[in-house]
Amino acid sequence: QTCGGCPSPNGLIEHLGDMLEVGSGGFGRVYKARHKDWGFDVAVKILKEDASHYTFKEGSFMDLASCEFVLRVHGVYKGPLGERGLVTDYMSRGSIESLQTKLSGPPPWPLAFQLAHQTALAMNFLHHKNIVHLDLKPNNILLNDELNVRLADFGLSTVSKSVVSDNRNSHTGPQGTLQYMPPEAFDLSYNPVRAFDIYSFSILLWSIFSGKEPYPGYSIVKARITEGDRPDCKDLLSLNVDGIRALVDLMKRCWEGDPDKRPYILKTTEELFSRHSDNIRRAVDEVLINWIDQIRRNHIILSHRMSTVVITALLTPLHKCCTIFISI
Ligand code: ATP
Repeated sequence: QTCGGCPSPNGLIEHLGDMLEVGSGGFGRVYKARHKDWGFDVAVKILKEDASHYTFKEGSFMDLASCEFVLRVHGVYKGPLGERGLVTDYMSRGSIESLQTKLSGPPPWPLAFQLAHQTALAMNFLHHKNIVHLDLKPNNILLNDELNVRLADFGLSTVSKSVVSDNRNSHTGPQGTLQYMPPEAFDLSYNPVRAFDIYSFSILLWSIFSGKEPYPGYSIVKARITEGDRPDCKDLLSLNVDGIRALVDLMKRCWEGDPDKRPYILKTTEELFSRHSDNIRRAVDEVLINWIDQIRRNHIILSHRMSTVVITALLTPLHKCCTIFISI
């Protein structure tokens, strides 16, 4: 399987220009690049050397592209030194995690319900293709220009434990990220099934609606989760938001200790989103305007700092000359 539209995977490097690093994670670095033939930006995730034994499920890429909420994979990257990676759509708005950082809290409620439902749709789609995601969390839910969900990093479950345990923040367990892992997955003989994702989805819901990271500062997350500890819903239940009780109820059923009791989620997320869908345009605009304002403000602060530096640089020698002149 080569990248759709690319002459050959080996030739791909020649087709990419202006590569700029945008971030890095446990599996490697992510670059933004301009595809010279296609004329649009793509993201290239280049795997770390120790992930070289990872085999991409290439055959399924094109199949997955039929779900609009799953990140589109264009093909495989092969670098000049044998580096390997994936070429995907570039998501200019980052992820739910970057959104949380920008907003310092939860998004407007209609957007929160939309993020929840679109993630549920993407997850459900993968499950129908017999793929268990195993790492649902805010930084794997990427956002397009209009803040629609593009689920990324699916299928990384095939990466060996040694690669995963090398994660920079050491919060990553045998599979996935500790805070989002169901209790049964801590058992070394565990075989991943869909109920894993349903559990992670409930923690993701909690994070989206609270705008927070689950279990902040816990050093013994694993023990707490196996003992039945879950994120606190008191603050969520005190919110005056249509559907919040049903949402918390869904969360609680999804993070049941017994995987067999975790429900089918799509109907509820669809129903909850439908209550807010009339206001989705306004909510998205509100966030985007806020975002652009922030960029503009940062730009002004930066230009102000730059001019202060330039003025100081110009004035310092002048000031020194005056001091010498006066002292003479
Ligand atoms: P980990 O994989 O260790 O769980 P992670 O998901 O943050 O962590 P990556 O998936 O490698 O790691 O992503 C690193 C950074 O690159 C993140 O900030 C992410 O938002 C960004 N990123 C990843 N894929 C894309 C993409 N297709 N478009 C734009 N940004 C992306």
